[in-house]
Amino acid sequence: PIPKEPPKIKRLDESVVNRIAAGEVIQRPVSAVKELVENSLDAGSTSISVTVKDGGLKLIQVSDDGHGIRHEDLPILCERHTTSKLSQFEDLQSIQSMGFRGEALASMTYVGHVTVTTITKGQLHGYRATYRDGVMEHEPRACAAVKGTQIMVENLFYNMIARRKTLQNSADDYPKIVDLLSRFAIHHINVSFSCRKHGAARADVHSVATSSRLDAIRCVYGVSVARNLMTIEASDNDPSSSVFKMEGFISNSNYAAKKITMVLFINDRLVECGALKRAIEIVYAATLPKASKPFIYMSILLPCEHVDVNVHPTKREVSLLNQEIIIEKIQSSVESRLRNCNESRIFQEQT
Ligand code: ADP
Ligand code: MG
Repeated sequence: PIPKEPPKIKRLDESVVNRIAAGEVIQRPVSAVKELVENSLDAGSTSISVTVKDGGLKLIQVSDDGHGIRHEDLPILCERHTTSKLSQFEDLQSIQSMGFRGEALASMTYVGHVTVTTITKGQLHGYRATYRDGVMEHEPRACAAVKGTQIMVENLFYNMIARRKTLQNSADDYPKIVDLLSRFAIHHINVSFSCRKHGAARADVHSVATSSRLDAIRCVYGVSVARNLMTIEASDNDPSSSVFKMEGFISNSNYAAKKITMVLFINDRLVECGALKRAIEIVYAATLPKASKPFIYMSILLPCEHVDVNVHPTKREVSLLNQEIIIEKIQSSVESRLRNCNESRIFQEQT
């Protein structure tokens, strides 16, 4: 029934606003892991390890050996919009770090229980602090610590009953978390990553720092993937149409899989680009119909001002200037690479 009187408009409680916003930034356990690992990368870490319990709903723990967090910053660490990475809106145009909003840690404290242990260079001991709803619960306690930061998120979505239920009913996020870490590991090859279930002896992702991308792919995705890859590159220096550089690895005609794997980094950000993925799938279907579910790793570099990183709260999607032109160029370089490999195979078969 439509009420006769207009309903009264009320201002929502700040805590309600914050919890709603937090649920958008942290959609599921894997989104929390992504934010934490990106913070570790931003902190200059060379080793990052992730431990997960109950698909991330009970526990997510990310430990790094990065620069740590200053003792005096701990009180505001998990407030909304506190960041060391951005100060002016204009900085967004040239931002190099993954983070910039100062929202991730805050969000986690609105939908879970966050404990931070950190030590900075030259200190004899570290500090540990716990947070809820953006607030530090007590003075940081001195504690033993090894270099870097460890962040623990417990009981994710304890206060969002519907979210917790849907997550508990679906398959847990652990495979998604393993997939995420695998992607990071083959891009940031100078960092070693590990990912395991809580209490498990064996890690499901275990990469060691290397200088060879192909070695990293072999280590993470296995020999059978790595031996069927070829390098690819493309670039364009024409500022009137587009400026970009792409390099990566794509699978050849011997690679067979049930579904496409597309690992895409644009300016070192792990992103999705449906249009590019489809464009590549089309080329494979037309050129290598028997190997039409490829493995693709691509890293695209563009001038910062050509990428808008701020279109989505999870930063999963970015929008690019001249996207069509870039996709066309990449598509044609993939196509010529696949044709070459087809021709050399036919040639080998004939001789
Ligand atoms: P953002 O990454 O957008 O700045 P976050 O909420 O993710 O926002 O983190 C807030 C701040 O906390 C960061 O700007 C950074 O200074 C600090 N921080 C978070 N995680 C780490 C970490 N693992 N090592 C060092 N500093 C960290
Ligand atoms: Mg961050």
